[in-house]
Amino acid sequence: MFDYLIVGAGFAGSVLAERLATRSNKKVLVIDKRSHIGGNAYDHYNEDGILIHKYGPHIFHTNSKDVFDYLGNFTDWRPYEHRVLASVDGQLVPMPINLDTINKLYGLKLTSFEVEQFFESVAEEVPVIKTSEDVVVSKVGRELYNKFFKNYTNKQWGLDPSQLDKSVTSRVPTRTNRDDRYFTDTFQAMPLHGYTRMFEKMLDHPNIKIMLNTDYKEIVKFIPFKEMIFTGPVDEYFDFQFGKLPYRSLEFKHDTLNEEQHLAAPVVNFPNEHAYTRITEFKALTGQKHSKTAIVYEYPQAEGDPYYPIPMPENAELYAKYKKAADETPNVHFVGRLATYKYYNMDQVVAQALTLYKKLTDKEEAAKPVRPAIAGSTSLVEKLINREPSKE
Ligand SMILES: Cc1cc2nc3c(=O)[nH]c(=O)nc-3n(C[C@H](O)[C@H](O)[C@H](O)COP(=O)(O)OP(=O)(O)OC[C@H]3O[C@@H](n4cnc5c(N)ncnc54)[C@H](O)[C@@H]3O)c2cc1C
Repeated sequence: MFDYLIVGAGFAGSVLAERLATRSNKKVLVIDKRSHIGGNAYDHYNEDGILIHKYGPHIFHTNSKDVFDYLGNFTDWRPYEHRVLASVDGQLVPMPINLDTINKLYGLKLTSFEVEQFFESVAEEVPVIKTSEDVVVSKVGRELYNKFFKNYTNKQWGLDPSQLDKSVTSRVPTRTNRDDRYFTDTFQAMPLHGYTRMFEKMLDHPNIKIMLNTDYKEIVKFIPFKEMIFTGPVDEYFDFQFGKLPYRSLEFKHDTLNEEQHLAAPVVNFPNEHAYTRITEFKALTGQKHSKTAIVYEYPQAEGDPYYPIPMPENAELYAKYKKAADETPNVHFVGRLATYKYYNMDQVVAQALTLYKKLTDKEEAAKPVRPAIAGSTSLVEKLINREPSKE
């Protein structure tokens, strides 16, 4: 009999498996319908021996020392600060928009103070900021909105920014200085030998068994277990009884080129040209040396694997019904990006999983006849979960 059946071997499932097995001596079965562990963060060496991220570029960044230190138990880190250029009006300019973006785009030599005045002069007055369009036009005006955001968002989400919740574009800052880092988190690094190696170390414990290529529904009736941790799509768990939760998907087109370096930055965004949104060059992320280079194009699409929960009020309402059903389901714990229908970054999912682990152990402690004092608070971790994720 397993103590826990964990559905999904991504960050949510693997963190819980590791904690439960090593800290609580629980017997755990981790099951995934894919052929590998790591969920969407899975990476592997391609035919030419270049380390690539199968499901698109995954850049680790966090403000939580707890999360960074926790993952550091399973990997060394390679310091890495992410940078992105956007192809606009025939030029490659820094993204998020900063002082250099404006100067290059318009052939100017503005100072930080002057660019601040420039933004103020072009910003539109929006009494109540509700949508993604409102966020941007109220900061940088309509022209920059049209050049950088409108079409990119349309491609990425299949929706106009005016239809999308403000949270989508609020993640992208606007800067008046020359800081061209994509993220400003305290800890920014890549696992030195890749994500999959890190997951392998997390799951390498005699109490953890792993079953791949298996949908949990195929085995759930035959394998005895006490509790389930579910990290797949919550609507699927409940057989879509309230309707399908909308997700945006992506098609990844991987390519290897016979040149050492292809792009001027690790990622180049294409807001206005092409059907794809961006190209990523993996060696820039991983630091690998190789005479060839591997890139990936991302084509957003409606159908396919569920990647991005679509942040719209009607979807939040639909999710609320599933959340209620989930809360009322005994002995099943829903955690992770798909099970809680939230646009979480990796660090937030790790924090969410660590919080659930604490709840599970607290519950067990409470059930014991003599209850010891409950140590510490998880406020840091909770704060991290509740903050808006920064854009990937
Ligand atoms: C294109 C893209 C880029 C991203 N870039 C970044 C980034 O740069 N930085 C960042 O911090 N975050 C990034 N993320 C987010 C990151 O991928 C997630 O935060 C993280 O992977 C979520 O982990 P998870 O365990 O919740 O879900 P997942 O990684 O999706 O794992 C869930 C697992 O459950 C399995 N599963 C589902 N249903 C079943 C079933 N019925 N039976 C068995 N198994 C099942 C799935 O196969 C999957 O492996 C990105 C996401 C995407 C899509």
